[in-house]
Amino acid sequence: MTKCDVAIIGAGPYGLSATAHLRKVKGLDVHTFGEPMSFWERNMPTGMLLRSGWAASHIADPNQSLTLEAYQAASSNHFSSPVPLNCFIDYGLWYQRQAVPDLDQRKIARVESDAKGFRLILEEGETVLARRLVVAAGIGSFTWRPPEFAGLPCSLASHTSEHRELRRFAGKQVLVIGSGQSALESAALLHESGAEVEIVARARQIHWLGGLVSKTIHFGLGPTISKLLYAPTDVGPAGISQVVARPDLVRRLPRSIQDWLRKRSIRPLGARWLVARLQNVPINLGRSVVSAAPVGERIKVQLNDGGERTIDHVLLGTGYRVDVSKYDFLAPELTQSISRFQGYPRLSEGFESSVPRLHFLGAPAVWSFGPLMQFVVGTHYSSRSLLRCVVRKAAADRVRVGEPLVAELG
Ligand SMILES: Cc1cc2nc3c(=O)[nH]c(=O)nc-3n(C[C@H](O)[C@H](O)[C@H](O)COP(=O)(O)OP(=O)(O)OC[C@H]3O[C@@H](n4cnc5c(N)ncnc54)[C@H](O)[C@@H]3O)c2cc1C
Repeated sequence: MTKCDVAIIGAGPYGLSATAHLRKVKGLDVHTFGEPMSFWERNMPTGMLLRSGWAASHIADPNQSLTLEAYQAASSNHFSSPVPLNCFIDYGLWYQRQAVPDLDQRKIARVESDAKGFRLILEEGETVLARRLVVAAGIGSFTWRPPEFAGLPCSLASHTSEHRELRRFAGKQVLVIGSGQSALESAALLHESGAEVEIVARARQIHWLGGLVSKTIHFGLGPTISKLLYAPTDVGPAGISQVVARPDLVRRLPRSIQDWLRKRSIRPLGARWLVARLQNVPINLGRSVVSAAPVGERIKVQLNDGGERTIDHVLLGTGYRVDVSKYDFLAPELTQSISRFQGYPRLSEGFESSVPRLHFLGAPAVWSFGPLMQFVVGTHYSSRSLLRCVVRKAAADRVRVGEPLVAELG
């Protein structure tokens, strides 16, 4: 049976960055599991561009040496902002080879509590015992499918995350539901692939990033004012951006203010460069689907304005709803013992849950640390915070069992 001090589940930006940071602690045995960048590789569409700007798309590393620029210098891959998806995946894989070359790509089937920490059972049946566990398993388990589409086969109604290749819809009629980046960009890619696309969204208007207010601030008021109002983290509107860039501050604010900041910062938005690409795509706002049913090989949907459509496919750009009980590898007894609010674990300093030595990184940390945690840029805060906590607590754990840890930063 393998034993380690810290096991990390996940090899996306959060898991890789956390591993790179914890590897700085001499004598700390860190074991990381997961397929590197698998969510980006399998669950985002070919041709996608990153919505986050250049400065907000580096995966944090302790020496600040694994940046997008360093990757470009080391490879022959040259690109600029907006960062193309395939380049970002290559960057992530390069980061993994540099920082976590011994990544264990096997899948964790089950995690149970153990007297000394956590028992991880791999799909192949092997068991790993870890004193501390970091869950950085992403949002793939949290896809939101509205109830109107329950029971319909994926051939008729599918979530945007189910597609890598949207070109398979060429020549088909597709209704896209939603008004966030994922829905809008999927609609643009479908249109450019030769599908007949229409968008339906509950929102009364589409919020575009970089609108009039942002343009006036960036170009009209000059770089100093612009820097005062917008943090390089690139999350949230003017002013709010500077607050949410400081998770330590966010978590000390009254709950009602934290909730307001979150809503303002991660409401559905579309990147400005999508406007021209969607010029010839009909967009129906203020509408929702009230029912959907198969009609032969097609699907008929009824809208709340009385309209109906019979099309080949409905693509649900309806996003994700965090609920850690949906991580199927966590034993139900373990999940039940985690203090949660609406599916989010309540986390304290170091991203530790109410179950001692169990940490959650990425989107599940949004409720406790704010909207930054939903984006790659949040790794700059989460990895450092985790490192500080582990250095402090892991040394104490080891002393308790008589094996002092050289908690020395290498
Ligand atoms: C369409 C779309 C576009 C986006 N664009 C941007 C953007 O432009 N900029 C931005 O900052 N963010 C963007 N995001 C958000 C992005 O998904 C997150 O920022 C990022 O993926 C979070 O990284 P993560 O490490 O938490 O999760 P992920 O990247 O999802 O990684 C999860 C990891 O966990 C592993 N894993 C899961 N379960 C197990 C298991 N049982 N055993 C072993 N390993 C497991 C997976 O293999 C994977 O390695 C976008 C999201 C979507 C859906």
